[in-house]
Amino acid sequence: GLTPVTVLGLGLMGQALAGAFLRDGYPTTVWNRTAAKADGLVAEGAKLAGSVRDAVAGGRLVVICVSDYEAVRELLDPLEDVLDGRVLVNLTSGTSAQAREIGEWAARRGGGYLDGAIMAVPAGIGTADATIVYSGPRTDFDLHEPVLRSLAAGTDRATGTDGTAGAEAAGVGAAGTVYLGGDHGLSSLFEVAVLSLMWNILNGFLHGAALLETAGIKATAFASLAEQAIGTVAGWLPGYAQQIDDGAYPALDSTIDTHLGAMEHLVQESVSLGVNAEFPKLIKALTDRAVAGGRGGDGYAALIEQFRKPSEAR
Ligand code: NDP
Repeated sequence: GLTPVTVLGLGLMGQALAGAFLRDGYPTTVWNRTAAKADGLVAEGAKLAGSVRDAVAGGRLVVICVSDYEAVRELLDPLEDVLDGRVLVNLTSGTSAQAREIGEWAARRGGGYLDGAIMAVPAGIGTADATIVYSGPRTDFDLHEPVLRSLAAGTDRATGTDGTAGAEAAGVGAAGTVYLGGDHGLSSLFEVAVLSLMWNILNGFLHGAALLETAGIKATAFASLAEQAIGTVAGWLPGYAQQIDDGAYPALDSTIDTHLGAMEHLVQESVSLGVNAEFPKLIKALTDRAVAGGRGGDGYAALIEQFRKPSEAR
């Protein structure tokens, strides 16, 4: 028969996860602190467990998706030995250190452990729009990969091989169910890397919209130009990535000196228009340091050296 699965945590995301398993016919046991959130799933055929212990006992694959790792520990710590050959898949967001710690915890309780990160909204779960990345022992992933594909149905283009290190994750596919490697911390690291990208892009858009607003331009009038610009920048990434990996940053388009000149305009414009100038000043400060370090004639990717270092005290 199909692998019995358990979903612990039925918030917006947990409900979507359990729903995807049910739609694919997996016998699904669910548990949530607030039991009423299981009503819709029970109507679809899920079995509601009365305790976390009973819920875990009901599945061979146990997915947990709650607010944070503190909640994960609170729910699972009391359960000595209950993992007993089961594989726990933790899709709760957290840090790489927390993921590694739970990996050791699970190993002590005789269970497998995969940490995962969801790069999708609940409505995307179970569709080709979802990407979920996993890290932990390859054997745990291989054992349950067909089940996990219910959650993120897209095709991964490449996955890490023996999963020994971050380098194995080179060429991670853009969609679907993706295995990153053996280090439990990798999913959280990829998650924060994507979040950093997302917030920087969104903040750039919001800052730009605030600048344009001073001239009476609506954000909707900026959106399509912004979208086009993001696409242009996205096209530079493979080349810049190669330069970062090679440690050589020849200026193919423009030099850091040229960028710095434009950054000064951005700071001046923001200050004189009375728009928040913190982000432009931060970017300019990093770039000033790169120039002071002799990188003015290099391409933009040389700024990686500023990001590799801890923040400077101000
Ligand atoms: P919700 O706020 O909708 O749900 C939180 C869930 O955690 C609820 O089931 C809640 O139980 C449970 N919970 C919180 N604290 C405890 C506790 N101490 N003991 C037991 N249960 C607890 O959040 P989401 O479902 O949206 O998110 C869950 C995780 O998924 C988060 O880590 C989030 O970062 C991640 N994620 C979410 C995405 C999204 O778009 N929603 C996207 C990618 C990742 P109760 O119902 O009883 O309050």
